[in-house]
Amino acid sequence: MKTLMVLFFSFFCSTLFSQINLLRVDSWRDKVQAALTIVQINEPAIFKEIVAKSTIQSGDLKEAGYAAFCDVQETPTGKILWIMIGLDELNKSSQLEIASIIVHESLHIQNRLHDQPGRNWGNFTYKEKQREHTQIYNYELAFLKNAQASNDEIAGLKRLMRKEKIPIF
Ligand SMILES: [Zn+2]
Repeated sequence: MKTLMVLFFSFFCSTLFSQINLLRVDSWRDKVQAALTIVQINEPAIFKEIVAKSTIQSGDLKEAGYAAFCDVQETPTGKILWIMIGLDELNKSSQLEIASIIVHESLHIQNRLHDQPGRNWGNFTYKEKQREHTQIYNYELAFLKNAQASNDEIAGLKRLMRKEKIPIF
């Protein structure tokens, strides 16, 4: 995790919203910025509590085996919230899909801050992960529908949920 974070720091940019760190290509920043605006409009509470305080980064997560992930880092001066989005996801996803990834990771962060502070996702049992993901993926699905996602975007998330064996409400 530490090594990954150092890599992510090769480009840094401060914006109106969150801090967005992206590697190499500037156009990705516009896509993430558009996604952040979608989150801000559709999920103002999550945006205010989590997203606006998060550092959003991207890097090649293929080897780590993640589409995206998040972390809450405890430091002497406070908590640092991180959302990492894989380069593949950034390339292939629509603005709204990226917004839904940001909502998904923000809900994980929210749970780490409130329900089970300090717990590491890596130490969760399969059952605990499935329980949290059932709540998060279904919230994400409602978010997409609410934000007028296309049939393809909704089908894409449902496909992922079925693959992860998450019940669809
Ligand atoms: Zn997740």
